[in-house]
Amino acid sequence: MAEQRRDAGDGRDAGETGARRPGEALERAWDDLVATARRTVSDGLVVGTSGNVSVRVGDTVLVTPTGVPYDRLSPEDVCGVSLDGRRVLGSLVPTSELPMHLAVYRSTDARAVVHTHAVHATAVSTLVTELPLVHYMSAALGGPVRVAPYATYGTEKLAENMLRALRGRTACLLQNHGTLAHGATLDQAYDRTAQLEWMCRVWLTASSVPGRTPTLLTEEQVARAGQRLEGYGQP
Ligand SMILES: [Zn+2]
Repeated sequence: MAEQRRDAGDGRDAGETGARRPGEALERAWDDLVATARRTVSDGLVVGTSGNVSVRVGDTVLVTPTGVPYDRLSPEDVCGVSLDGRRVLGSLVPTSELPMHLAVYRSTDARAVVHTHAVHATAVSTLVTELPLVHYMSAALGGPVRVAPYATYGTEKLAENMLRALRGRTACLLQNHGTLAHGATLDQAYDRTAQLEWMCRVWLTASSVPGRTPTLLTEEQVARAGQRLEGYGQP
């Protein structure tokens, strides 16, 4: 998803009606986006249409449209906006959480964003201002995961709070709302979301044992794990 140029049709202004045909790279990215959005539902991270997914191709951001069940999204439903939120592809209205997605692309080098209302993460967002360090996988998200203070969904205020919580991190919780994670690819943003939800579940499980308090890691222990994770995987 690291393509820097837009495909054939680039530069032809479709205006607000968005009549421009997507190029091949955008068509492929749309297929990947729809597959990722469906995965958030089948894996239980999203109920109905309560989450949203986006991917950046050049200066175009493809994003799930508002109120359309993911299993009904077809190639014709492609929904694309510019970095300032102007519709450049398709005729469907983009997700109401567009301000959060665009804020991430404008201030990081992320290429994909996943937002969910995953149940354990949302529960944790009502209890703490930072996810306690129950597991070293916090390091894979850049350190202790912060909770962005509550603001009405779809507002610039929420996008602002989210950006502050994301500083130095690739994921955050949104108070009484859900999760947001970004990555270099849709798979990476998705995996970070799933890791975050899993860690929230671990903390809730451990802290619900009566009379016991979970042992937590220190920031230093998590940072050391982070150094190892950098070299993790197949060469
Ligand atoms: Zn939401």
